[in-house]
Parts: sequence; C-alpha cells; structure tokens
Amino acid sequence: MKPDPDSLFQYLDQTLQLYGNHLILEETNLNVFETFHGDLDSFNQSICTCQKCPLSQTRNNFVFGVGNPQADIVFVGEAPGKQEDLQGVPFVGRAGKLLDKILAAIELTRDDVYICNVLKCRPPQNRDPLPFEVEQCEPYLINQLHLINPKLIVALGRISACTILKTKESLKNLRNRIFKYAGIDLLVTYHPAALLRNPNFKKPAWEDFQLIRNKYLLQQ
Ligand code: URA
Repeated sequence: MKPDPDSLFQYLDQTLQLYGNHLILEETNLNVFETFHGDLDSFNQSICTCQKCPLSQTRNNFVFGVGNPQADIVFVGEAPGKQEDLQGVPFVGRAGKLLDKILAAIELTRDDVYICNVLKCRPPQNRDPLPFEVEQCEPYLINQLHLINPKLIVALGRISACTILKTKESLKNLRNRIFKYAGIDLLVTYHPAALLRNPNFKKPAWEDFQLIRNKYLLQQ
C-alpha cells in the first residue's frame, strides 16, 4: 500500500516529539500476527501494556472492549475518545449513551453485545487513526473477534469501516452491504456521534438496526 504523505508526516512529527530525533524500528513487532488461544480476559492481560506505537505514551488507559465474550454481535468504533481513555471503557461518552439507547430500541443491552474499537488507545485530540497505528493494533481486533466468534460485526462510522475494509468509499456506498472481515459478516452503519451531529441520519440508522435485528437476532 502506498503511504499517505500527510499521515506519514503526522506520525513522524508525533514520534519526534515523544522520542526525540531517533528512528526506532522494532522489526519483531512489524506485521507479526500471533493467534492467542486463551480467553478474552487473559488476552486483554497479555496486551494491555502494549508499547507498539506512540499512542501508548499518551494514553491513560488501554481500552480493550466490554460486553458478552460470547456475543452474536460485535460493534466496532474507530478509537477511544477522552472519556473512554479516562475510564478504560469504550463508548461511555455522549455517543456511547446514544448507542445504549439504540441498543435498547432493539431490545439489547451492553451485556448482550460486545463493544470495542479498532485502536485500543486514544489518538491525541481524537484525530483519525494513522496507518502505522492500525497496522500495530488491528491484529488485536482480529484476535478478539476470533475469540468471540460473533455472527455479525457492525462497523460504526466511515472511519471504522474504511480502516477495517481498507477502502476509501463513502458511508453511503458501504451501508446495506454485507462484507466479510476475519471470516465474519460485517455491516456498516453511522457512528452514533454522527447521529448526534445530524439528526437526519437517525432514520437511515434506524433502518440499519432493524436489518441487524431481523437478519441476525430474530433468525436463530
Ligand atoms: N468513538 C469511538 O469510535 N469509540 C469510542 O469508544 C468512543 C467514541
């Protein structure tokens, strides 16, 4: 994949601020994907002190994920925000409260599903994840998904979806399609923060959640 120059400069600039003028190349950490065979909690314990990218230096908490370790549905956001970083739990801010309400509308609670993010650490100022960060963190997500083995992954928002699916398509083009990720069905819907910003998205989002309920919850 061709590196995006803006992201690369942003990453190098951040690395310079954190580590000084040294380029650290840790060969052993690059693109190594080791499958974890324990349970979710022990997987969390084994990775929660991760130092693979500079976000480890600015995080308050590693935000692994919450919910039912045997959930049928896993919701995946892009990365923890301020509240999530402070509390170590995904989707606990305003967007998270709305996600709880949407789940309640299809008769689910946080304990029925699993909720996590592509990145486990907060990017400064909530900027978009950088390719290097995704490269380091995505194997954690894939391992998590293999351990949970859900029927469906729901990518929340364009950034999460495009990061996972390695595409630059619009959210409009990604909705209403069933993709496969790590061998599991994946649907894309709006990020709850987008619904807070633009109430016009609420109707199509509700249609997405009805599809999720009808196709993956009612058909046991
Ligand atoms: N936005 C996300 O994508 N993830 C969170 O955990 C919170 C807000």
